[in-house]
Amino acid sequence: MRSPLDDGQPPSSTSGGDIAYVSPQSARDMGAQLRLFIDSVRDYAILTLDPAGYIVSWNTGAERIKGYKAEEILGQHFSRFYPPEDIASGKPQMELELVNREGRFEEEGWRVRKDGSLFWANVVITAMRDAQGQLVGYGKVTRDFTERKQNQERLRESEERFRLLVEHVQDYAIYMLDADGRVSTWNAGAERFKQYKAEEIIGQHFSRFFPPEDVARGKPWHALQVAASEGRFEEEAWRVRKDGSLFWASVVITAMHDTQGQLLGYAKVTRDITQRKQHQERRELEMLRDAVRARDEFLSVASHELKTPLTPLQLKLTALLRTVENHPSATLPVERIARDLEVARRQVRKLSDLIEDLLDVSRISMGQLRLDRAPMELVSLAKEVVARYAPQSLQVGCAVTLEAPTPIEGNWDRARLDQVITNLLTNALKYGAGKPIHLRARVESGLAVMSVRDAGIGISPEDQPRIFERFVRAVSERNYGGLGLGLFITQQIIEAHGGIVQVRSAPGEGSTFTVMLPLSPDVETNVTPDPDAPAEP
Ligand code: ADP
Repeated sequence: MRSPLDDGQPPSSTSGGDIAYVSPQSARDMGAQLRLFIDSVRDYAILTLDPAGYIVSWNTGAERIKGYKAEEILGQHFSRFYPPEDIASGKPQMELELVNREGRFEEEGWRVRKDGSLFWANVVITAMRDAQGQLVGYGKVTRDFTERKQNQERLRESEERFRLLVEHVQDYAIYMLDADGRVSTWNAGAERFKQYKAEEIIGQHFSRFFPPEDVARGKPWHALQVAASEGRFEEEAWRVRKDGSLFWASVVITAMHDTQGQLLGYAKVTRDITQRKQHQERRELEMLRDAVRARDEFLSVASHELKTPLTPLQLKLTALLRTVENHPSATLPVERIARDLEVARRQVRKLSDLIEDLLDVSRISMGQLRLDRAPMELVSLAKEVVARYAPQSLQVGCAVTLEAPTPIEGNWDRARLDQVITNLLTNALKYGAGKPIHLRARVESGLAVMSVRDAGIGISPEDQPRIFERFVRAVSERNYGGLGLGLFITQQIIEAHGGIVQVRSAPGEGSTFTVMLPLSPDVETNVTPDPDAPAEP
């Protein structure tokens, strides 16, 4: 730490002797100026001592730093600025002797102010000699570095605390690698997961923490390369403990550069997350088991549902065959045959509907649901579906009404929307048998809004969010049949159109399903389609 006055030359010896040529007059002027300057300097205590160490001159800085006025201190021995233990060990005298021998002495140490308080001083003492080399005294420049010292101390303490913290952290292995990847520091966490003691591992290459196959593939060096070029490398992977066992590690390697950008090495933080991984794997296994169970359940429901129409179909076909065999062609009961054929045809239709739904679900899960959009009108489609189900509505005792003040034009896939309306209407007929059903279609803020309301059994709040999932059938005492696919397909079709479908229902109070469709593909107002829904072409 060099001060401006501390350039290796005694501050008070520049009284003209070093200057090549100066007239006696200007030399006197300069001497006076220099004295004035030294006197008024406030940041440096500048004083001179006689050869025995008694104070001869005293400047403003000395008064400010040490607390004595010139008249109090002139003629006193300079050792009074030293703490008692330094005086006892003869330090002041030793320093003067050193200056005598070497010409100069510099140190930092504690000194005492007039009020007895200590300050951290940077001291330079210089020997002053006359032209013959005779010692005429000493020049002494002292600076108060207490604050600087305190800052350094605080910094050192905080670094020390940080070092202790890192050293004692148990849950993270925190250590450093040199630029070649050799371990250069080690903490308690590292010792705990990796089982090496600091003295066993420092200096070893960090590749020994990798499984052999990773080492063979050059992974440790690749990791360092990535960290060096991108600043950071991060991964979750297997690592090897000292005893050879593996643990699942979350690893971050950060490159450390000096101010010139030179690579110093790497900081490495590793966590043992084996337990978390095991937990996650258990959860995934459970989910897999659930999925397998759901599939098995579905297979059993599906076989049952597919078999149901086959029994009446077989019965009717056998009866028909018998009728034909037992009657001469002239007396065939044509009406009965037609009735039986109609029953048979309905069962075949049920079967093909079920199979069509299954095919749709597999198309959807493979992302192959494609829309065939064309300009169409929604209200007439709804009328058509209602008319198609008039006989069945009559049979189950449902009066179906349709309220639609204006036609609703849009660019949609007609066959798919037919499927949606059919599905909602047949559900209403199934779960709301004997009660009125009301369809309503209107335009609201850029959306075609169509609702199907029944007054049937309703859906419990806890079932409502699930009914749109695949294979989900809300439980009820009565078996209504069905594969639990209709609402899933409905939702997928509506979302593929950029729309949404919602349910409002309470047990015993009926259900209202509402479909909202953007009128044109670019007007997707207020509609947030499920990101998982298959994209349309
Ligand atoms: P499902 O073939 O079982 O009807 P859906 O996917 O169409 O399959 O419906 C899923 C479940 O939602 C049904 O099993 C039923 O529990 C419930 N659900 C659907 N529509 C209605 C409705 N209108 N009223 C009461 N419950 C309904």
